[in-house]
Amino acid sequence: MEFEGYCVKCRSKVKVRGEEVIKEVKGTPRRFAKGNCPHCGTAVWKVLGKA
Ligand SMILES: [Zn+2]
Repeated sequence: MEFEGYCVKCRSKVKVRGEEVIKEVKGTPRRFAKGNCPHCGTAVWKVLGKA
């Protein structure tokens, strides 16, 4: 999947190719998009919502 996330290293929005993962946050499963910045390779996360 492709999503628009925010890279903290580039300090800008980047288009990221990644995958959807489900992670538990404080006991609640949530959907995230996870990928790597195409410019610097830093991990970029985006919250998609409840699982
Ligand atoms: Zn970056």
